[in-house]
Amino acid sequence: MTTSTVEDYLKQISLEEQRAPGDRVGMGRIAAALELTPGTVTTMIKALADSGLVDYEPYSGVVLTGSGRQLALHVLRRHRLIELFLVQIMGMSWSEVHPEAERLEHAISERFVELIDEMLGRPSVDPHGDPIPTAGGKVATFDQASLARIEAGETVVIARVVDQSAEFLERLEREGLKPGSTVHVIETDRVADAMVLELSEGIRFSLGLRAAAKILVEVAR
Ligand SMILES: [Zn+2]
Repeated sequence: MTTSTVEDYLKQISLEEQRAPGDRVGMGRIAAALELTPGTVTTMIKALADSGLVDYEPYSGVVLTGSGRQLALHVLRRHRLIELFLVQIMGMSWSEVHPEAERLEHAISERFVELIDEMLGRPSVDPHGDPIPTAGGKVATFDQASLARIEAGETVVIARVVDQSAEFLERLEREGLKPGSTVHVIETDRVADAMVLELSEGIRFSLGLRAAAKILVEVAR
C-alpha cells in the first residue's frame, strides 16, 4: 500500500468520524467516498489495522487509533492549508481547489507546509470554513448553526459550507455567499421550502432550505 493510499483512507475515516462522532465507520461509507468496492476497502482496512492505525471490528466498522488520528489530522492540515494557499496566493476559485489539493497533499514536505502556514498568518480555517488542524494536531471547534434554521429578521455571518461539490460552490460564489459574508434573513417560508436573503449590498435572492441546510453560520453567544 502506498503512503498516499494510506493517507487517503485515514483522512476519509477521520472526516466520517467528524460527521458522526462516537460511531464506528462502516466499510460501505468508506467505499462510497473513495469510489472503491467494499471488498477492496475491507482488504485495505485489515492492512491498516495490522499497522496499528485503525481499530477494525468485522460487521461493525472501524475507528482511528491515536496514531491513525494524528496522521489523518496531518493530512487534513496539509489539504486545507494548500486550498487556502491556492485561493489566496494563486488566485484560484474555491470551487476548483479541492482536486488540486488532493494531489498536492501527498507531495509537499513538512517544511513546505510550515512555510505556507507562516505565509498565510497561521490561519484557523480554509476557504470553505473547515478548521485547519494545528501542527500539534488540535482542531478548533466553533459554535455554528444551519442557515436553514435562522428566523426572519436575523442577521448572521456565514462560517462554513458543508457541501463542497464544485457545482454548489460555484452557485454560492455567484450569489456572494462565502464564509465571512453577512446575510440578513428577510423571510423563511417553510411551506415553499425556501428563504429570502439579503446581502449587505442590498441584493436579495431566494435560496431553497435544502441548500441553506448545507451552509453553517456563526452563532453569537
Ligand atoms: Zn476545504
